[in-house]
Amino acid sequence: MAKVSINLATGSLQKEELIVGIDLGTTNSLVAFIDPDKDPKVINDAGKGVLVPSVVHFGQAGDITVGNEAKEYLITDPQNTVFSVKRLLGRSYNDIENYKDFFSYKVIDDNTESLVKIKVGDKFYTPIELSALILKELKERAEHALKTPVNRAVITVPAYFNDSQRQATRDAGKLAGLDVLRIVNEPTAASLAYGIGLNPDETKTIAVYDLGGGTFDVSILQIQNGIFEVLSTNGDTFLGGDDFDRAIVDYWIDKNNLDKNELFKNRELAQQLRLKAEATKKAFAHQSLVNEKIGDIWCTLDRNTFNELILPKVQQTIDCCRNALKDAGLSIADIDEVVMVGGSTRTTLVKKMVADFFERPVHDDLNPDEVVALGAAIQADILAGNRRDILLLDVTPLSLGIETMGGLMDVIIPRNSKVPTKAGRQYTTSIDGQANMKIAVYQGERDLVKENRKLAEFDLKGIPGMPAGFPKVDINFLLNADGILKIQALELRSGVKQEVEVTPTYGITDDQVEQMLMDSITHAQDDVSQRMLIEARTEGEQMTYTVERFLQKNAAYLDIDEISSTQKKVEKLKEVLTSGDKDLIHKTIDDLNEYTRPFAERLMDVAISTAMKGKSIE
Ligand code: ADP
Ligand code: MG
Repeated sequence: MAKVSINLATGSLQKEELIVGIDLGTTNSLVAFIDPDKDPKVINDAGKGVLVPSVVHFGQAGDITVGNEAKEYLITDPQNTVFSVKRLLGRSYNDIENYKDFFSYKVIDDNTESLVKIKVGDKFYTPIELSALILKELKERAEHALKTPVNRAVITVPAYFNDSQRQATRDAGKLAGLDVLRIVNEPTAASLAYGIGLNPDETKTIAVYDLGGGTFDVSILQIQNGIFEVLSTNGDTFLGGDDFDRAIVDYWIDKNNLDKNELFKNRELAQQLRLKAEATKKAFAHQSLVNEKIGDIWCTLDRNTFNELILPKVQQTIDCCRNALKDAGLSIADIDEVVMVGGSTRTTLVKKMVADFFERPVHDDLNPDEVVALGAAIQADILAGNRRDILLLDVTPLSLGIETMGGLMDVIIPRNSKVPTKAGRQYTTSIDGQANMKIAVYQGERDLVKENRKLAEFDLKGIPGMPAGFPKVDINFLLNADGILKIQALELRSGVKQEVEVTPTYGITDDQVEQMLMDSITHAQDDVSQRMLIEARTEGEQMTYTVERFLQKNAAYLDIDEISSTQKKVEKLKEVLTSGDKDLIHKTIDDLNEYTRPFAERLMDVAISTAMKGKSIE
């Protein structure tokens, strides 16, 4: 076990190099750092603005733009403009099926539990790659503004993000060329920005209210000995400032006696109205009436009417606050502080209703759209060991994980996690009737296990015969305060169980740890592209396996042409699997998928979808 010190925690010999804090938002992203006076500051590169809209546009000529420029294309070129990618990060198509219409770009429906992909033109992108483009832009802006290389970062995520969403965020950072020191909860970062939780002696319970562009969440946190614990979260992932804008536009349409469907056929005009609505909403911070015209349309609104329009939406957020308190088993009197986060908390009515509900003044001195990034910068500074006043906790210096298909490392406990800690994940089999599962435990930061350090290997034996994808194998890692790692594998349907214990720090020196960290940084880009290729290949192999099996079982239901076309497509897929071209693999999988989908539907057979549920180890 190591104390978080500059070399072990960061793997860098350049002690002077700064670490930035990044708020990777659904609507806007931004980056902050600690200036030489020890104050957190947001970066405004060349006056381009602090907020970088989380929008990516792909031009015909292969050019990629990110931010404000890309936002313009939301109207003129919606199919090639990706927004709200954070909603897709670490998600499978099954997770997002109910709101797929929200996206104007193409999200691939592969009918499986594997992570979603997006198709732009001929290319396939994962949300990780798209988020990496946004992070890269932030990295470049920081480098340009600070005139120094930026290679290390702390990135924030919502408190409700699950393990897979957090891992995806880490991977995006890695792909952008950033060494992600830690993933921090947004409400934790916001609290740090207000100095809450910096004093290790204080114990506090706080509420963090975050109303952004398209999402709302409230978190109840308990802070003890400098450790933030999430007691509960609540919210609505489709409620935010955009709803306020829409309410205003609808009001104007009504007042001008216009036909909404007719009007919205003119996309340009619809967008102009939306932008005018957003500007009007913001204007109410310092004026009480807006009275303007777009063409023949009167855009008139006073603050009181605005408040009436948005009241139901704000009331909904208050209901979420009540539920969050209830889930935490607390009452209003238990809350010591309330922190406001997100651009939409600038709205006067929002502030008032939140303060009224919690019966106390709220923290709103800092810019609500900047607090998360500022807090992330403070967390980065703490990790860099620059704050002597802050208690440094025992952390694990290298990530711990297991080998999954294709020899990939699946991290279960990420490096820099505080010890003691426990974490787990569920896996499944990839072959029908598979009775044994090999579990190989590794330590290290590389994407391929062969580059990492092997700690243990054992077989979970005696899994009763089941179709591929059916067994549910829970693998749990428990790292105790003495640095002993307990690994438990349990097949839930049968109760088959196996346990081993290792000491990860045994037989490895600090220098070796440092070298492993350095290597992972040098090889980051290669590692991620290799991982993506292997993942595409694994998906393709699974696909050929399931389709071939499907053909065997159900040949009677298909006609000769269908069978031979399917076989041809399977052969084609097998061929491209060796090509080393991930886009081509995805394209061929997609093609086979589209072709066979009607068969599965026709047969009402769930074989294809169920067989591919869950990740498999081997
Ligand atoms: P996210 O965390 O979802 O990326 P932000 O925290 O950046 O989003 O919030 C963006 C939202 O804040 C937008 O809906 C924007 O219109 C709103 N917003 C920004 N400034 C103001 C303001 N002065 N008054 C009201 N709403 C505002
Ligand atoms: Mg936000």
